[in-house]
Amino acid sequence: MNPLRSLILAAADNDVIRRTVATAPVSRDVVRRFVAGETVADAIEVTRQLVDSGLTVTLDHLGEDTTDADLADQTVRAYLELLDALYAEGLAAGAEVSVKLTAVGQLLDEQLALTNAARICAAAEQCGTTVTLDMEDHTTTDSTLRVLAELRRTWPSVGAVLQAYLHRTVGDCARLAGTGSRVRLCKGAYAEPAEVAYQDMHEVNLSYVRCVNTLLAGDGYPMFATHDPRLVPIVDARAEAHGRKPGGFEFQMLYGIRPEEQRRLAALGHTVRVYVPYGVQWYGYLMRRLAERPANTAFFLRALVSRS
Ligand SMILES: Cc1cc2nc3c(=O)[nH]c(=O)nc-3n(C[C@H](O)[C@H](O)[C@H](O)COP(=O)(O)OP(=O)(O)OC[C@H]3O[C@@H](n4cnc5c(N)ncnc54)[C@H](O)[C@@H]3O)c2cc1C
Repeated sequence: MNPLRSLILAAADNDVIRRTVATAPVSRDVVRRFVAGETVADAIEVTRQLVDSGLTVTLDHLGEDTTDADLADQTVRAYLELLDALYAEGLAAGAEVSVKLTAVGQLLDEQLALTNAARICAAAEQCGTTVTLDMEDHTTTDSTLRVLAELRRTWPSVGAVLQAYLHRTVGDCARLAGTGSRVRLCKGAYAEPAEVAYQDMHEVNLSYVRCVNTLLAGDGYPMFATHDPRLVPIVDARAEAHGRKPGGFEFQMLYGIRPEEQRRLAALGHTVRVYVPYGVQWYGYLMRRLAERPANTAFFLRALVSRS
């Protein structure tokens, strides 16, 4: 792993650094480049701006792994409040929600996670939107796909996420490429061992393209989540070769990352969905985004020095 990335990820786990950064009067602008804010009202405001500019949204309520049933219940209630607000503000058609099963109890009990995720899916359906299950580290993949299959019996529109860095993923793409199946394809964000995941970025990119072709050859609705300036035109060209029109697949990017590219793709007629995180637990998420790209770290440190 890149040494700067390791350093930032280590800093993210250090309690003293965490407290110092999280409580420093860092400009709202800096955190808000990547995170909508701490409240539902913040999430709604950012969603409205993005939807008004021709983009669609998936909202992530930020939290950490939950090993306590009460915390899992609090997470569910946070999503229910968010969904109510999306409905009340007339934004549900342009915004869905992304849910991490570990935040609703997966590490405690798979059945609890299923029950909690079902509460969110039922509320999403009532509000006129849907849910995508984020994918976490490889030890949770089988469990997440089992929960997905159960949820889809009642809510077929529940989205899956597959990670191109896992050796297994091209097979999972083939299995999940059936009619109407919404599948987000990303490279994968966790530090995974060589037994299960490609370590070399070139191999990850090749796997990503194999998965793009597999999903596009099926009858599902692929959602290509990447900021990679080499992969975006490849996805576009492969979609055209497979006869997919804009609207038959979508691009997804994170809030604050390559916003001009998001608007450019939308202006070409593509559906572009922006992944918008919000919530009080923004610190870990922000550190992971900084670790991905040194330029973001320099931007953050400059603002920290000049405004704190
Ligand atoms: C909508 C969405 C949902 C996701 N959901 C999940 C999930 O459920 N599970 C999971 O494991 N991972 C998820 N991820 C994260 C994903 O797996 C990657 O870690 C992350 O997207 C970085 O990969 P990349 O494809 O952008 O390519 P990278 O290989 O990280 O970057 C390739 C190129 O993209 C450009 N780029 C990347 N980052 C930036 C930046 N910050 N600013 C400017 N340019 C940049 C640069 O040119 C870079 O060289 C998600 C990502 C997105 C966009």
